[in-house]
Amino acid sequence: MSNVDVVVVGAGFAGLYQLHRLRELGFSTTVLEDADDVGGTWYWNRYPGARCDVPTTDYTYSFDPDLERDWTWSEKYATQPEILRYLQFVADRYDLRRDIQFSTRLESAAWDEAASRWLLNTSRGEELSCRYLIMATGCLSVPKHVDIKGAERFRGEVYFTSRWPHEGVDFTGKRVGLIGTGSSGIQSIPLIAGQASELTVFQRTPNFSIPARNGPASSERLAQISKDRTAYREAGRWSRGGVPVEVVEITGVAASEEVRRERFEAGYQTGELFGILGCFADQLFNPVSNEIVAEGIRNKIRSIVVDPATAEALCPRDHPFGTKRPCLDSNYYETYNLPHVRLVDLRKEPITTITESGIDTASESFTFDVIVYATGFDAMVGALVGVDIAGRHGQKLRDKWADGPSTYLGLTTVGFPNLFTITGPGSPSVLSNMLVSIEQHVEWIAGCLADLRDQGFEAIEPTPTAEAGWNQHVADCGNITLYPRANSWYMGANVPGKPRLFYPYIGGVDTYRAICDEVRTKAYLGFRLDGNGKEQCNDGVVFRLQPDVALVLQVMAALDLPPLESLPVDEARAFLVASSAERPPGPDVGEIVDRALPGPAGDLRYRLYRPPSAGPHPVVAYFHGGGWVLGSEESDDPLCRDLCARADVIVVSVNYRHAPEARFPAAVDDALAAVRWIGAHAEELGGVPGQLAVAGWSAGGNLAAVTCHQVRDAGGPHIAGQVLLCPVTDCDFGRSSYRENGEDYVLTAALMRWFWDHYADPADRTDPKVSPLRAPDLSGLPPALVVTAEFDPLRDEGVAYGEALVAAGVPVRQLSARGHIHTSVPMVDVVLSGAPVRAEMAEALRGFFPARVPT
Ligand SMILES: Cc1cc2nc3c(=O)[nH]c(=O)nc-3n(C[C@H](O)[C@H](O)[C@H](O)COP(=O)(O)OP(=O)(O)OC[C@H]3O[C@@H](n4cnc5c(N)ncnc54)[C@H](O)[C@@H]3O)c2cc1C
Repeated sequence: MSNVDVVVVGAGFAGLYQLHRLRELGFSTTVLEDADDVGGTWYWNRYPGARCDVPTTDYTYSFDPDLERDWTWSEKYATQPEILRYLQFVADRYDLRRDIQFSTRLESAAWDEAASRWLLNTSRGEELSCRYLIMATGCLSVPKHVDIKGAERFRGEVYFTSRWPHEGVDFTGKRVGLIGTGSSGIQSIPLIAGQASELTVFQRTPNFSIPARNGPASSERLAQISKDRTAYREAGRWSRGGVPVEVVEITGVAASEEVRRERFEAGYQTGELFGILGCFADQLFNPVSNEIVAEGIRNKIRSIVVDPATAEALCPRDHPFGTKRPCLDSNYYETYNLPHVRLVDLRKEPITTITESGIDTASESFTFDVIVYATGFDAMVGALVGVDIAGRHGQKLRDKWADGPSTYLGLTTVGFPNLFTITGPGSPSVLSNMLVSIEQHVEWIAGCLADLRDQGFEAIEPTPTAEAGWNQHVADCGNITLYPRANSWYMGANVPGKPRLFYPYIGGVDTYRAICDEVRTKAYLGFRLDGNGKEQCNDGVVFRLQPDVALVLQVMAALDLPPLESLPVDEARAFLVASSAERPPGPDVGEIVDRALPGPAGDLRYRLYRPPSAGPHPVVAYFHGGGWVLGSEESDDPLCRDLCARADVIVVSVNYRHAPEARFPAAVDDALAAVRWIGAHAEELGGVPGQLAVAGWSAGGNLAAVTCHQVRDAGGPHIAGQVLLCPVTDCDFGRSSYRENGEDYVLTAALMRWFWDHYADPADRTDPKVSPLRAPDLSGLPPALVVTAEFDPLRDEGVAYGEALVAAGVPVRQLSARGHIHTSVPMVDVVLSGAPVRAEMAEALRGFFPARVPT
């Protein structure tokens, strides 16, 4: 049995660089490769028209400046033969082949607990032992099994784009049937049509494609690279997708018709994925914005394809643009204008069987000399679960992942020590320029192995906490996008029976790199390291904020604003008004009315939001946030619209007197007066008399809670329920959430002190009218939804208030907004992960009232 430090499986871009890097570090390394030469993807996929779809200026190794200097790509998008030549050139240059065993499959791997090593079996019957096993087996390397009835019966020639004969195929004079219109189909169809006497394309789902506009590499990019190669590559490493592109800020929803047209056209003309995917900042999040791009492409298809029925069949409608990998083509749609090319829409006319001589659909029999399958891959996990890998206690990887892959960083998985997956599920991988992602993984793994060796450890394995946290973060990132709406291979939907979840990580190459770096600098956060009688574990979750909340914090940090509490009150108020003007407005409602109601010390302005449905509606008296110092009836406008629209209730947002001009208990008195007036005037407001609830955020939550105490004690009006979002409930700053979250999450402990100091004298602060948690009796209060945010200094007092209500017999639902901060849930159309929380708030409001009979 041969013994090495490391076995790498796969000799594509990833395996080759991993071998080179490990050699440099002095690790003995063997590479196993199923094929008989290097190349991976570019060894196997030799179909006509095969090219990369990331410009070769970027789809290229960057680890060695001399290598870059000595290789020049001939085109913007190089063909498969050229990319394969490049990989062969790399293998020769670094003399890599001497450590690669070709025509050798890794069949099985078992973790030997006692020796802390992997024992491997290959297709050649050989056994190997290694300390570390690195799967560089590729995301798109296992062709999808053909699951069409009768496939084995066909007597003519059969080809798979992903296993194309090395000698090529001559289609001249042949009748060809081609199944599949993903990237490989779209690239090969125009070239096959150029030779075949007849070409029939069988399409199940149309894909979006734009012209690649291939040609020489962009002179602008080449100039950038030659000016400062290092800076260019560094910019790629710290970009969202692995290619340096301008960060788009304009949203499709906010843009004018003219700007929408211009942005789309400019994206389309780039002939680049990151160009068309970057027309608008919100196009992968907002369906309205996405549709601008989708319809733009459909119009292009209609303008190219002459036959209207064929054009419509080619127009994708079942998935938002970009949620399946868009294609770049050369004359794809034009090909359907040729007289010998025909499209069969399998959604209308499904294949019933493949026969000895061709393909039968529900309405027609086709005769072919050749069938080409361009049917895609068992992506992301196929090659990993294709090997019989047994980890600790004999657990099989394919069993562990039966319901979907579970990884830490897409690099490692619990129960499988010293096993690494390059561009594994849960890493940016297929959503990025894979060369950048491959290099980052290779370098991280190499650095990790060197660290283990230097520190005297023999094994590394993630902890269950870290892995669960990562899976959650990967899902959180996917869930705020439109990706889960597509039946794509990103979602595992192209393979029958494959678990449906979002496989790659969409948080961005830049964020991901920073996370991996952080893990390493924090003593391998989330990993257990052991060996030579010692152990180290810095357990924890590396990313707990919701991704969009993290982005908001990042943007705010970049603005470097002065802390609110450092400003005079007037300036703080002016700042709030100015920043509110910049935010998205929130959803449309039926009507918005600004009026005033009588308060104890003069009129109180209010803003009424009426739903579009026919009234009368239940009424919710709403109190805004702002620490009793800032804000007005308008300041929570998007949240009020959202609650009105979702809950189908009238929301009356009431202004109240603010501190320091009017200190405690002025705001409480105003809130009580407002609720009484609203209760008494429900009918004239368009409400249902007797159907009244209260809601509020932050200091407004405090006022809503306190008002419930007061109306209970003063005999009315009846309040059907209370929704308290991140409420202030107590004056004690000593709870853990103040310590944990008091500095970095917008609402700081210092700002809370500033609010309290403006609002209430120290002697008044324990009064239940400002610290409702201290009320001696909480029984008989209306049912409540108490929402707390994980990263809020007020979290624990909110939770304590909910618990105290429960203890007093009040029906309460407590909702913890995971990964949120004090200010994020109200950020409608900015923090998309807040939407489910607001949906629950609306649901609670609805639930306080009898079900409405639609009129
Ligand atoms: C047609 C096509 C075009 C693409 N274009 C782009 C592009 O433009 N930009 C981009 O970023 N990405 C593109 N990709 C994705 C592409 O897969 C990656 O860019 C990259 O080539 C992956 O390199 P890799 O080394 O990780 O994996 P691969 O190139 O897939 O290599 C994996 C190797 O592992 C071997 N292997 C697998 N299992 C075993 C086993 N059990 N034992 C032994 N050997 C095994 C395989 O034989 C294969 O050679 C494209 C993919 C395809 C299919």
